[in-house]
Amino acid sequence: MKVFKFGGASVKDADGVRNLASIVNRYNDPLVVVISAMGKMTNAFEELVQAYFEGNGIEEHYNKIKDYHQKIVADLFDESENDLLDEWLEIIHLKLETEPSLNFDYEYDQIVPFGELMSTFIVSAYLNKIGWENNWIDIRKILRTDDLYRSAGVNWELTSRLMKEVFSFDGDKRYITQGFIGSTDTNLTTTLGREGSDYTGAIISYALDAESLSIWKDVPGVLNADPRWYPKAQMLDELSYWEAIELTYYGAQVIHPKTIKPLQNKQIPLLVKSFIHPDNAGTAIKATEQNLQLPPIYVLKRNQTLLSISPKDFSFILEENLSEIFEVISRHRIKINLMQSSALNFSVCVDHHKNIDAVIEELSNHYGVLYNTNMELVTIRHYTQEAIDEVMENKEVVDSQVSRKTARYVMKGSEWSFNE
Ligand code: ASP
Ligand code: MG
Repeated sequence: MKVFKFGGASVKDADGVRNLASIVNRYNDPLVVVISAMGKMTNAFEELVQAYFEGNGIEEHYNKIKDYHQKIVADLFDESENDLLDEWLEIIHLKLETEPSLNFDYEYDQIVPFGELMSTFIVSAYLNKIGWENNWIDIRKILRTDDLYRSAGVNWELTSRLMKEVFSFDGDKRYITQGFIGSTDTNLTTTLGREGSDYTGAIISYALDAESLSIWKDVPGVLNADPRWYPKAQMLDELSYWEAIELTYYGAQVIHPKTIKPLQNKQIPLLVKSFIHPDNAGTAIKATEQNLQLPPIYVLKRNQTLLSISPKDFSFILEENLSEIFEVISRHRIKINLMQSSALNFSVCVDHHKNIDAVIEELSNHYGVLYNTNMELVTIRHYTQEAIDEVMENKEVVDSQVSRKTARYVMKGSEWSFNE
């Protein structure tokens, strides 16, 4: 069996759903199809949760979500079926009429998942209507997690067992289900973190020992840079798991970072393919010899803050200092993208985050802290001198770290231009 994953961009309107149908129709394999919320609906649901929490503007946000889905339903089905989503909309509306608890992350997970639930409900019904028979599965019954809302951890053993039972391919051949969501053992809905549907695809593939996981995207595959930034970006036909893990670690956004490891553990190939040109091979991420000849691969992370930390008493930066600094940073849920230490100074490049001020304040008790905002972090894997020169042109580099395979530069944010 195979697992397919379609993201929000692939089902942003009725034509998207029809296109998805034409893609799955080409396959005669037993399939589990994982689908995200439609278009930008997860963002819309996030705004709704905010409104619900603040008790302000709920109807407006709810109506926006309702109208968006109703339009797609009206485009895909006969008038007699326009009530397809009524039950879902009713459940959402009832929830919005209750008082929110004090736990924002919990409330988020009780509301945002309706994006995935309605999206898959629509697509499954449409596919059944056009004769592509499938079973709609509420994945919350089988993808079991802890209760770390918005960033839930998977109970692998239980999930694998339940998935094997429910996706039994016993009598039925295809299933449609949700990405991104799960539930605790007390049946409270959880989410795996933004863009987590890729990860769901990997979890299912792992549990069912899938032949492959295909992620269908609006790009031709994995490119060696983001083409919106670097116009000369080119396709990579093949990558090792190892390389893919490195790239997502450095911030390449093509696949969710947690996706690769479960696949690697079972040596399941990951195919990144275009839903616009489904005949093209895309990129295969799989077990390969370590020494694939790869061109330089560029990852740009914008909006970085560089913190430069030194002990006030001029003592050396020692293990105790470092562990204290890490503790403060991690407690504020800030992710370190690059770190560098010298005798009297420790610097970290982090994603800009609302908690940075609090970190600086806390650290200022024992340390002198300087910081620079609006930095950019460029990573070049498999760098060449030429690649470095090109990226550095007209840039002011503030910090750098170069190893055998990887060169990384923290530079002041400014306009980018490349000679085509
Ligand atoms: N719909 C969720 C999000 O946009 C999950 C996903 O798309 O992977 O974050
Ligand atoms: Mg999405």
